[in-house]
Amino acid sequence: GFLPKSKLLTELDHFIGLPHNMARQVTASDLALAMQSGHLFTAYQPKYDLASRKITGVEVLARWKDPVLGIIPPDCFIPLAEQSGQIVDLTWYVIKRAFAQQERWRRNGSELNIAINIPAQLLKVPNLLDTFDRMVASRAKGLEGVTLELTENTGIECYRYARHILQALRERGCRLSLDDFGTGHSSLTQLHQLPFDELKLDRSYVSHCDEEHDATAITLSAIELAKRLGLKVVAEGIETPGQLERLRLAGCDEGQGYLWAPAMPEAEFNAWLSNQSIEQRPLAVKANAV
Ligand code: C2E
Ligand code: MG
Ligand code: MG
Ligand code: MG
Repeated sequence: GFLPKSKLLTELDHFIGLPHNMARQVTASDLALAMQSGHLFTAYQPKYDLASRKITGVEVLARWKDPVLGIIPPDCFIPLAEQSGQIVDLTWYVIKRAFAQQERWRRNGSELNIAINIPAQLLKVPNLLDTFDRMVASRAKGLEGVTLELTENTGIECYRYARHILQALRERGCRLSLDDFGTGHSSLTQLHQLPFDELKLDRSYVSHCDEEHDATAITLSAIELAKRLGLKVVAEGIETPGQLERLRLAGCDEGQGYLWAPAMPEAEFNAWLSNQSIEQRPLAVKANAV
């Protein structure tokens, strides 16, 4: 479920250290304005192939920077958007920007997959597939190079319908990832009922995977489970070389985390990318190259 408003405000105060009266001013209409004014934007966190150490793509993460209030964290405005119903507009907003960004990277010679967070609420939108089709009309290969990350935070009510929609999206070329695996939100039921290609281990497990800890047993079993189901495994929140090595040896395929880089806005990401070694960079293979 969503956070009650009081919890939201406490978290916001905690994050940006504002007096209560200021934090209280963040509302659904502020969020609408932020989308119009560009104060809501997208940031990109690199993802790596753990075996080859190459950059495979990015996770697209929404950011809100208000000129007065400063940075408002996703853990605050995503629940707000889910509560107000604006999460659907926000998702289209993020997808549009991410598609345009991916196209710019492609033109500059970088082949980066984009992973986009999709709320369960989006799946219920009428004519969802038509909207996707319109949005990908100008793309050469439909939804190829796109991963949709799903978390069951708002609850999928009808698995049959969700399965139908997700299967149709997959047929358009994208991959489906079950995000935050191991938290209460992402259950075995979903894994069993829906056509996922990938399991994304939650940071709360990844953080402890190089220690003697219950989380380690769960992490290793989750990787094993994913392998048995033929799924790719991605770890989020890798912060130390020890965690990376543990996960790599256990068979985890990909990862992202502060060990490499946090999410960065476009210009910062591009500068960062151009500083990476040529072996790690996701260079596009030229079709006519010999
Ligand atoms: P998520 O989808 O699980 O995204 C991963 C979160 O972990 C991101 O937080 C990322 O910045 C953070 N992270 C990655 N590596 C590390 C690390 O090494 N250490 C630590 N401490 N954190 C790391 P962020 O950007 O604050 O987003 C939080 C959540 O908000 C996301 O969790 C996602 O559920 C939601 N969210 C963010 N952007 C969007 C969006 O565009 N649409 C939707 N529906 N949800 C979004
Ligand atoms: Mg995610
Ligand atoms: Mg996640
Ligand atoms: Mg997470």
